[in-house]
Amino acid sequence: MSHFQKITDRRSKEAMVRFLTDHFRYDTMRSWNASSSYAQCIKLHKLGLTPEQLMKAYDVIQTDIWDELDILIQDFVTEMGGAYTIGVNGRSGGYLVLLGSEWTSTGYKSYCRTCYQRNYQSCGHTDGDNACGMCRATGEKGRVNYATPPRQLSVSNSGIDEECDFENWSMEQLRARVNVVEAFDSACDDIRVAFLGMLDMDVVEETIMVPQKRFVLQTSHAL
Ligand SMILES: [Zn+2]
Ligand SMILES: [Zn+2]
Repeated sequence: MSHFQKITDRRSKEAMVRFLTDHFRYDTMRSWNASSSYAQCIKLHKLGLTPEQLMKAYDVIQTDIWDELDILIQDFVTEMGGAYTIGVNGRSGGYLVLLGSEWTSTGYKSYCRTCYQRNYQSCGHTDGDNACGMCRATGEKGRVNYATPPRQLSVSNSGIDEECDFENWSMEQLRARVNVVEAFDSACDDIRVAFLGMLDMDVVEETIMVPQKRFVLQTSHAL
């Protein structure tokens, strides 16, 4: 189901330039930096919902919908090899915005098999160099090197194609960019479809007990 994605003719320079130039855009951050990128509006009235779905949608967005929808953003990141991600911006998160990103190392080389404390030093170079600095575990219970060192996604808030100087781009460059933006639009469709699925679920009220610490004032000496 494609609400956002449009298929662009990759053989036509004109069609690709028009697609990129006419694509909806939004700020990459709270607007003080005035950078913008490719985006889609996901405000409820823009999702093509029936009046019944729209009423239900106002209830559904009271729940933590992004716990679930974030998985789809992670799928997009994987598809893009970490080079792009999707940010949620705007008051009350009404826009999905394409952002540049890259996988970077966390710097951690090993972790403790007992307490899972991570460590910037690798081990296994000399006997007994794998003691955990946190819980003091050693040997089999001590630190071990990561098979794959953990990475994190660094997200850039700079704008993408703000100058729109596509006339000087090669066909190859244009195709590569259209591929990314079309994949972004398709991911926005996936997010919309997942959200529509949530509209078939019931919103139930749950009372949760949270242990709380509170501070009270007391006179400092008994009267
Ligand atoms: Zn709107
Ligand atoms: Zn430890």
